Amino acid sequence: MHSNVLSLISLMVYLGLVLLPLCISQTLNLSPRPFPDELSSYLAMIGFNVILLEFLSSGHQKLLSRILGIDWVLQTHQLFARLAVLLLLIHPFLYTLPNKPTGIYIPSGSDFVGLNLGSSLTGMLALITLIILVGLALTRQNSVLRYETWRASHAMMALLVALLGFHHTTHAGRLSQDDWVLGYWQIALAFALLSIAWMYLIQPFIQSRNPYKVTSIREVSANIWELVIDQFESSNHPSKNLKYQAGQFAWLKIGQPYPLFENPFSIASCPDKNCTQLKFLIKNVGDFTHQVTQLQPGDPIYLDGPYGNFGQSLFDSEKKDIVFIVGGVGIAPALSLLRALASSHTFQSDKKIVLITGNRIEEQVIDLSSMVNLDHFKEWKHIKIIAEPKEHWTGEVGILDKDTLSRVLKSSETNISNAHYFVCGPAGMIDAVENALDHMGVPLSQIDSEKFQYDFSKKNPRNHRSSITALVAASTLIALATYWAMR
Ligand SMILES: Cc1cc2nc3c(=O)[nH]c(=O)nc-3n(C[C@H](O)[C@H](O)[C@H](O)COP(=O)(O)OP(=O)(O)OC[C@H]3O[C@@H](n4cnc5c(N)ncnc54)[C@H](O)[C@@H]3O)c2cc1C
Repeated sequence: MHSNVLSLISLMVYLGLVLLPLCISQTLNLSPRPFPDELSSYLAMIGFNVILLEFLSSGHQKLLSRILGIDWVLQTHQLFARLAVLLLLIHPFLYTLPNKPTGIYIPSGSDFVGLNLGSSLTGMLALITLIILVGLALTRQNSVLRYETWRASHAMMALLVALLGFHHTTHAGRLSQDDWVLGYWQIALAFALLSIAWMYLIQPFIQSRNPYKVTSIREVSANIWELVIDQFESSNHPSKNLKYQAGQFAWLKIGQPYPLFENPFSIASCPDKNCTQLKFLIKNVGDFTHQVTQLQPGDPIYLDGPYGNFGQSLFDSEKKDIVFIVGGVGIAPALSLLRALASSHTFQSDKKIVLITGNRIEEQVIDLSSMVNLDHFKEWKHIKIIAEPKEHWTGEVGILDKDTLSRVLKSSETNISNAHYFVCGPAGMIDAVENALDHMGVPLSQIDSEKFQYDFSKKNPRNHRSSITALVAASTLIALATYWAMR
């Protein structure tokens, strides 16, 4: 199915889930309250429901990321978290009815709001925690917090917000006194807790019993290392082999299977029955990646995956040319896809394949001829762009920006409008390439990209489209809440 249609259907399903407790509450026959009080309850319900659904869009949902792509999942996660903060922040100020603290909440609700000390406190604490949580997430890139510290605090605060919010909603909320609405909150909270337990306890426990083994580690170009991991065939556990598709990624964990210290890496091998090993290309940039370079054959290693859907449109693309544009170690998923193409019997080998790689120095360029059967491709071009070339360099010079890209696409005689683009690398590079392609008139539907960063901040056509979609979706939710509050 076309990815735009799939995204639209998924968004509808998501909005339907967000509105579910409100829909249930429409069947109740409660005495009417002033419009602002009704609206306040509905907005709070939307906000809290979004929070509980955030647990299911955390980037660790294999099925969702496989179908919709990790970007869709994370953008939904990040954009709707902002909506939740906004709605939850507004809702206490909308109430017009006086508060009448009661020991036990009585759901008459027509002439007072039944908050007691406990539910006021849990509501306030949940809101403060949520604001800190979202604030830290928005400022993470520029903060001094280590990634691991941020991640642990993110998970713990999310758990706290869910539990405190649940107490507040079910004790202070008039609508939540109904068995069906209460039942919905209980089920949604159970799913949220289960997803955390699965990720932090159950799955690591299962993995601890079946570690993968490092086969080899070697430097394949300046500071880029190839990590090879044995699948399970050799240890008679074929069912435990990672079942993945070319272009997907996995979370790697060294020394222990618990997820606080895991990092995401694209799988560079392809799922071929002749290739029983998993391969990764890893650039040594920090603590974790340095540890990878220190691994020895036989060391245990833990994997959680596969995730994402980068490159899945490659195999049924009707475009004439296939263009990979990769920055640095962004070559990893492209390599996986090229390997899959080279071993595919159904892929039309007459398609022109252009690989554009951007590296700082020549020594970082990976020699693909030893890794992929390039003879399989009838028309194959590898254009290497070097930012800081040495004197002898006669190839392209520059970075992956508009000028360089339009120059090399023209010189490689790529049919710009009849090509499918697969873009992978650091976030800044993806933004630059997507903006450049946009300038050349290439629609987003012809661009598939995988960002090596989890932040959704920069201005580019894709983020612009997501922000507009989220704005329309948020307005729809608020409009429906307003309509129901007025009835
Ligand atoms: C989908 C995806 C696929 C990737 N594929 C590859 C690949 O094939 N090869 C490769 O070399 N790199 C890949 N990366 C980038 C890689 O995950 C980071 O370079 C690595 O996590 C850095 O960790 P570090 O501790 O060595 O460096 P640090 O200096 O600690 O981190 C550098 C930056 O990496 C990011 N980062 C660190 N830890 C994590 C984490 N646990 N989860 C998410 N981001 C983190 C943060 O933005 C941080 O600022 C990929 C990233 C993503 C999101």
